[in-house]
Amino acid sequence: MPDTNRVQQLSDHVWIYRHNWKRLEPTIGMILTEEGWVAIDGGNSPLHGQQVVDAMKAIRDVSVKYVINTHRHFDHVFGNQAYDAPVIGSSRCQERFIENIQDDWSNENAISWLKGFIFKYNDLLNEDDFPNLNLVPPSISYEGTYDLKLGGLTLHLFPLEGVHTDDGIGVYVAEEKVMFLSDAFYYQGTSEGQALQLLELMDRVTKFEVDVYAPGHERSHDVEVFNLVQQNIQHLFQAVISMVDDGASNDDIKATLPFDLELYRKSFLNEKMHLLLIRAVIREHKKATQIQ
Ligand SMILES: [Zn+2]
Repeated sequence: MPDTNRVQQLSDHVWIYRHNWKRLEPTIGMILTEEGWVAIDGGNSPLHGQQVVDAMKAIRDVSVKYVINTHRHFDHVFGNQAYDAPVIGSSRCQERFIENIQDDWSNENAISWLKGFIFKYNDLLNEDDFPNLNLVPPSISYEGTYDLKLGGLTLHLFPLEGVHTDDGIGVYVAEEKVMFLSDAFYYQGTSEGQALQLLELMDRVTKFEVDVYAPGHERSHDVEVFNLVQQNIQHLFQAVISMVDDGASNDDIKATLPFDLELYRKSFLNEKMHLLLIRAVIREHKKATQIQ
């Protein structure tokens, strides 16, 4: 059953099924076109995907035309099978997803992979969330950008240029002025992406006409709050870089750049994320400039 408290309307034809951090469930976009629904990400399990499908059907009982995968991390793709619709992903996402299926994510191995890498660290998820698990990789892929025009709406798929993973994309729903940013702000324990690219990405995405930004594991915000977040991240990164260049220690940097609690009340930024971003920028800047 869908949890109606988690359904939030962002514009005339765009809703989200809000994220649930504790269960590693990202935000799922639900776009209603005149031809049917489009889901942005499939969810972290068949049950999560089914909740989204049920939430869509409760709004309008029409079929799901496509699922878009913003990248191939498990929490965004293990629910794909619930939609009974073709999956769209960047060619890199498709390639890496298929590689995983040939290995750890085959029908025989996927549950053991979950036990070894996910259930071990999260006791709210277990096998019951993954009945008849059958991973569905993108069958439609593209290079660069892709405009999905469907039932009166245009979904512009564009690369996130390696901020979280090398296969990640954002989705801009042009007519609705809503932008999905996937895991652009997620730096927990992953060194696969490049936090330093985030400034450039935020510069690029704020050039679109956007009313609401929807990130993958954080609250959605209107453009005013998003601009505050952008300014904060810009100042933070510049301050970290100049302190690293001046030879400050990591502890000094963290102590000198405390988190702005006012921003915490207004936005999705929080102290944990602030510290993770500082750590990522120190690591990446030192690596780029060969500072020991
Ligand atoms: Zn994620």
